[in-house]
Amino acid sequence: MLRLTRRILFETDKRLLWKLAWTMGWKGMLSVQKHKARLRKGEVFPPFLYVSIINSCNLRCQGCWSMCREAGADRAVCVSSDGARSQRDGQRLLRHRRGEPFMHPDLLDMLAEHPDCYFQIFTNGHFITDEKAKRMRQLGNITPLISVEGTEIVSDERRGRSGVLSKSLEGIRNCLANRVFTGVCTSLCQTNIDDLLTETWIDRLIDMGVMYTWFHVYRPMGRRHVPTCACRPRSSFALAASWSRCVLKSPSSLSMPTSTAKARHSARPRRA
Ligand code: SF4
Repeated sequence: MLRLTRRILFETDKRLLWKLAWTMGWKGMLSVQKHKARLRKGEVFPPFLYVSIINSCNLRCQGCWSMCREAGADRAVCVSSDGARSQRDGQRLLRHRRGEPFMHPDLLDMLAEHPDCYFQIFTNGHFITDEKAKRMRQLGNITPLISVEGTEIVSDERRGRSGVLSKSLEGIRNCLANRVFTGVCTSLCQTNIDDLLTETWIDRLIDMGVMYTWFHVYRPMGRRHVPTCACRPRSSFALAASWSRCVLKSPSSLSMPTSTAKARHSARPRRA
């Protein structure tokens, strides 16, 4: 924990750290209190929001829960209305899911309109150029959570394109070179669990400067679901034990296991 605290204090941009602590930490905590007060009055509106601004993606991952389409089929949804309601109702953390948000040409301009909100953006990192990373640093209210799904071969197979891993790593490096608070997420499955739920991988991310990791568990769903990818031979307990070992032995990175909507919505495999 001491190493993690030292990393957070000395390896991050202090202005971004302050933004994170104030906007997501302090105001996020207040938003939970407001949520509880709303519940007492019978109003149901969550403390945090998931926002999807795009349906398109450059990849075709196995089991993509969002069932995204080719570029050009975007939803006409703007983050502005969600952001405005969030501010009015005290929400401070918005997560972007579904599609590849960095394909949206106005993404960063839209987020710039809501400096009082903090955005965690799930992304494959392919469109994060040095210029975009610089802009994220300037805005200060964004943490990209970049997905890595395995070694080069596994990534290409899981994500339906070639050269996927190197492009994601390039996106991560662009963020880190600009000292953006960056995380890496993985959907654990049969083909990547032995490579990525390991101290070696987490140590590599720490050496790169990644601040947190996020693991969720692949469940077969979507048009391209692959039941054989699911971690069936391992029990949830065994997964939790592996994760705990990684966290205890490589504690310099925040690490979060989650079952996420991806897992919850996919308890029963869908038909294509
Ligand atoms: S990167 Fe995300 S949105 Fe794109 S295909 Fe993969 S899982 Fe779906």
